[in-house]
Amino acid sequence: MLTGSCLCGAVAYTLGAPLASATHCHCSQCRKAHGAAFATYASVPKTALRFTRGAERVRTFNSSPGVARTFCDQCGATLQWMEVDSDSTCIALGTLDSPLGPIPQTHIFVDSKADWFAIRDGLPQDPNG
Ligand SMILES: [Zn+2]
Ligand SMILES: [Zn+2]
Repeated sequence: MLTGSCLCGAVAYTLGAPLASATHCHCSQCRKAHGAAFATYASVPKTALRFTRGAERVRTFNSSPGVARTFCDQCGATLQWMEVDSDSTCIALGTLDSPLGPIPQTHIFVDSKADWFAIRDGLPQDPNG
């Protein structure tokens, strides 16, 4: 079972499903939300995510209509990106505490990438999605 937590540790979670692949999203909203060149997410069914600590500290910001980003209200660590109507949720992979090992990864929204960052890892790139 994979486990994760926020920066301050107030929020912790378990994932009851494997993480099959990850995306590195370069869109401007992910860059702002993470304060970084890109955000890394992996998708699980919403039912697989269980908050084991601090569920009451998880706040939601709707960055677009129908899109929710969650974060810890104490440390601000981003936790999820999800479409409200979807059965799946994307976990901010930097919050994972368990070893994961290599999984397939793709850079997405590369056309929106910060001009100061160069992708040099040879992973697949999707310009817009
Ligand atoms: Zn926190
Ligand atoms: Zn994004």
